[in-house]
Amino acid sequence: MHLGIDVGGTKTEICLLSSSLVTSQLFRERMETNRELSLADFFIRLKALLKASLDKQSISFNQITTIGVGLPGSVDPVQQVMVQGSVPFFKNIDLKKTFSKEISLNGQEFKGKIKFDNDGNCFALAETYFGAGKDWADQHQVPAEQLCLIGITLGTGVGGGLIVNGNLIRGRRGGAGEIGHTTLVEAGRPCYCGKQGCAEQYLSGPAFEHFFKTRAEALHPLSGKDIFELALQKDPFAISAIESYRDRLVGFLSNLSNVLDPHVIVLGGGMSTQKIIYEGMSERLSQACFLTKEPPAVMQNKLGGSAGVIGAALLPEGIFSK
Ligand SMILES: [Zn+2]
Repeated sequence: MHLGIDVGGTKTEICLLSSSLVTSQLFRERMETNRELSLADFFIRLKALLKASLDKQSISFNQITTIGVGLPGSVDPVQQVMVQGSVPFFKNIDLKKTFSKEISLNGQEFKGKIKFDNDGNCFALAETYFGAGKDWADQHQVPAEQLCLIGITLGTGVGGGLIVNGNLIRGRRGGAGEIGHTTLVEAGRPCYCGKQGCAEQYLSGPAFEHFFKTRAEALHPLSGKDIFELALQKDPFAISAIESYRDRLVGFLSNLSNVLDPHVIVLGGGMSTQKIIYEGMSERLSQACFLTKEPPAVMQNKLGGSAGVIGAALLPEGIFSK
């Protein structure tokens, strides 16, 4: 059985697959990450969640054969260390040693295969092999080994995974695909990474909410979902926040398209569930990209909130090329 753990900036999810098929999911549960607390606190809560989930299904910890973990940061593919990322207590520690020891429920170190990768990479791999990317490739008769795809998560942060000719591009130290920290606005808003104007500061869910709040001078912070509802009622501030978001998104996607020229761009995270962000995208990308004909298809993910954690669970299985 394959345990997947997807550590996000806000939520952490776990899932258990009984085989290497996405349909074999036995459970999927989530908890708060609480990134401002400690590693010890994280593992106490993670173990409690795992134990309760396994107990419910009468599964013993010893039945877990592999563990795959997605982390919100750059994970060195050789050293298996998160060299940069948004959950400070996972930075620059021996991940394999820590997880093998801390997650165990039987008093012994976990001895099975255990692998770590960036959460955006896990999302892109799952959508390429089992989700929207696979559907698109099947429909257009593009063999898996030729597919070029960009997976982008528009959630608490903005993450990404780059697939070229069916293979994930990790780069020298796992820093490839950190598209959320490419500059979208010169001398723009400060980012936690120390730079200014990062795409994440304009395209994440919190960035969208912040933009609306400053424009509308709202007394109470509204969720992204509330703002999209308000726009349906013709609220001018909500409409302007969405328009501005869409403009930034087109600029971002055209930059990425000019770098990678993908067949497909798959969007994930909370912002990706709003249908309005896809409206007119093809025409607008045509105008914005260097290659004006046949822009990449921009699609909503197929695996929903499960994509990242399923990708993580299947990491150690070796079913993703390379
Ligand atoms: Zn940044």
